[in-house]
Amino acid sequence: MKTSIQIGKVMGIPIKIHISFLLVLVLFPVIFANDAVFGFADVASTSLRYALALTLTILLFSCVLLHELGHSWVAMKYGIGIRSITLILLGGIAAMEEVPRDPRAEMRISIAGPLVSLTIGVLCYLAYLGLGIYDIVQISAISHISRFLWSIAYINIILFAFNLIPAFPMDGGRVLRAWYAGRMPYLQATRKAVNIGKMFAIVMGVLGLFASIWLILIAFFIYIGASEEKKYAEVSVTLEGISVRDLMTSEIAYVQDNLSISELLRLMFEKKHLGYPVVDQFTGKIVGIVTFTDIRSVPMSEHGNVLVREVMANNVSFIPEDADAMDALKMMSVENVGQLLVQDKGSITGIVSRTDLTRSIEVLGYRER
Ligand SMILES: [Zn+2]
Repeated sequence: MKTSIQIGKVMGIPIKIHISFLLVLVLFPVIFANDAVFGFADVASTSLRYALALTLTILLFSCVLLHELGHSWVAMKYGIGIRSITLILLGGIAAMEEVPRDPRAEMRISIAGPLVSLTIGVLCYLAYLGLGIYDIVQISAISHISRFLWSIAYINIILFAFNLIPAFPMDGGRVLRAWYAGRMPYLQATRKAVNIGKMFAIVMGVLGLFASIWLILIAFFIYIGASEEKKYAEVSVTLEGISVRDLMTSEIAYVQDNLSISELLRLMFEKKHLGYPVVDQFTGKIVGIVTFTDIRSVPMSEHGNVLVREVMANNVSFIPEDADAMDALKMMSVENVGQLLVQDKGSITGIVSRTDLTRSIEVLGYRER
């Protein structure tokens, strides 16, 4: 399912909004229309109040977009491509093609976003102070503008501070890792940064018990983010320099889509492979992939009647032979498939499965230790 839609392009980067963002467009205007501190609760006209609140919401998310563009701009200077920027429920994500391994690059890319937020915050605050001189006359248009400036300044400063919390997945976690990575191997640096992040999350969670449920939720989000980052770093370091070619099975057996499950099982025992590309019995075109997992749900008594085409996975993804093993893993999780067909110069040369990848991660990881 497509969960985000593209709304435009900036610096050549596709800008997308995630469906959860639609909730923001409803929720935030309601909050701002009824909040006296950040919003416009004191504006008498209801329609004006909501119009102002919606405008503030859009302006704030433009600031989030600028924050992400800050990261992206510096990343692009280091030659790292940005696939897209997606606005989600609680912020934005700039999808970088790779996580920079050079500590200086990671440091600068990570700090760029918060610096953009800080700059916007300070500039808006100064403008707010400047406008305050004229506000004595109480012209409503000026007071609305100054309310905008104040809210944008305030929220951008919070954004700046929040993102500098030294824990993954916040920018501060990356800054911390980059700082350590300048002094020790990458994996060790990641582990240190992750542990500090987890400690932060635990302290935050405990404080949350006395203060607010929100703090507990954020703590939880940080804890999960930290663990994910550690896993990602371990896998990407382990798979470094390994290509799909090194892991794939190059002997492929094709099966026709009208084969019965019992015939397929016989083939599996004979060939000892677990994944098979399926071809249409008439056209010979690849129409799916069938694995042992797909047939496990079929009751034994039905094995003679059920055909491969009824249980196979219909989405087939292809990957070039010289692609990095890490890219194969990413592709599997993005496309939610367990197998990829490997291509070289237009012809299929092999098949690679998630099991092939996880097994080699285990073996290589073991060797490293
Ligand atoms: Zn950021």
